[in-house]
Amino acid sequence: MELLFSTDENRYRAAVRDFLLRTDAKGVEREIYERDFYPRELYNALGEAGLLAPVLPPEYGGLGSLTCEAILAEELGAACVPLAWIHSTSSYVYATIARFGTEEQKDRILDAMRTGAKIGAIAITEPEAGSDVMRIRTHAHLEGDYYVLSGEKRNITNGSKADIIIVWARTDPDVEPARGMSAFIVEQPRIIAEDYKLLGGFPGTVNSHLKFEGLRVPKKNVLGSVNEGVRILFDELAIERVLYAAMLVGEARPVAELALDYSMQREQFGTTISRFEAVNFKVADMMTKLAAARLMVYHTTRLLDAGYSAEKESAMSKLLASEAFFETAHNTLQILGGRGLSEYPAEWAFRMARLSMIPAGTNEIMRYIVQREVYRTWRKNKSL
Ligand SMILES: Cc1cc2nc3c(=O)[nH]c(=O)nc-3n(C[C@H](O)[C@H](O)[C@H](O)COP(=O)(O)OP(=O)(O)OC[C@H]3O[C@@H](n4cnc5c(N)ncnc54)[C@H](O)[C@@H]3O)c2cc1C
Repeated sequence: MELLFSTDENRYRAAVRDFLLRTDAKGVEREIYERDFYPRELYNALGEAGLLAPVLPPEYGGLGSLTCEAILAEELGAACVPLAWIHSTSSYVYATIARFGTEEQKDRILDAMRTGAKIGAIAITEPEAGSDVMRIRTHAHLEGDYYVLSGEKRNITNGSKADIIIVWARTDPDVEPARGMSAFIVEQPRIIAEDYKLLGGFPGTVNSHLKFEGLRVPKKNVLGSVNEGVRILFDELAIERVLYAAMLVGEARPVAELALDYSMQREQFGTTISRFEAVNFKVADMMTKLAAARLMVYHTTRLLDAGYSAEKESAMSKLLASEAFFETAHNTLQILGGRGLSEYPAEWAFRMARLSMIPAGTNEIMRYIVQREVYRTWRKNKSL
């Protein structure tokens, strides 16, 4: 029982944990670490068990709860990183379609995503447009009943595997992108994709460079209104950042547990190393920061569930979670000494925690958002 959660949320978390134990998701993660494969079948099983997409409204088979979606992200992160990655961008896609899609789009797509039959990707970043998303060059023009899209997108998680990709493109070249950008639901993508090898990319995770030239997307697949893509983008990013942070808090958990276990067993100078302050203070620091990040995540999902915008809190969540994960991985390596450099999961965790400071907006951009919102509030209300 976790006091942070309601009875229903605790019940949902117990069902997710039970599924992950029953399917030996940790064992699957270990297997993937050794022989690199994409755990699509396990993701399908998660959907078939009715545990995917709790953020969807009840009429689409969900629980209407972003908090439960974050619980899922956290538990998947703790149990099986490649599974958590499939869930990550898929969840941003179904959450965004649920918020902005037409009835026809929702009927056609959400069920297939909730059952795990289809997975998703989010395509914002381009070679020239990273932190500065307003520089995107991908463009689309209308030809009859189709928009024709051309451009390229980089670092797209699930990119080469996704069935449904939300792609942002410029639709009005005569105005600045903020007023002339639209979001498109691209299905059955016929896109040239090349997967990256990333520092920190866990085996079984996919991150791709996508190129498309003259891709025909039916007009009915515009998400929201034409030229209103920026509103959808910022809404999506707030959800993406907090769910990404939840996953990181989960990923850090087995790493912290390893530090605890190892320090209680390893003996040097006639005692376990957990007795040395230089070791146990590291444990104190990592647990304190992880607890703070976790609380921030669920505070943010509660704000979003209640209908508030939470751009600042979402940025704070991502910032806190990635830095707490990095500190946890860093301290765990030190506590494990030489063994940490070669042994799973300590060695990958360090690389992966370093990676986490870049996706969903770099940590510099998270700080930029936080300070901007803090100054804005102070200027307006003289109160925080
Ligand atoms: C593993 C991974 C998964 C990803 N998944 C996706 C995905 O699914 N979909 C997607 O669209 N994108 C995805 N991305 C892309 C990611 O969002 C971008 O990498 C990120 O936004 C940064 O853009 P950039 O890499 O072009 O760096 P740049 O924007 O070029 O930044 C370079 C450096 O300059 C700093 N900088 C830039 N502007 C400022 C500023 N105003 N103030 C201070 N510092 C600044 C940055 O913080 C950074 O340190 C992913 C990236 C990674 C690594």
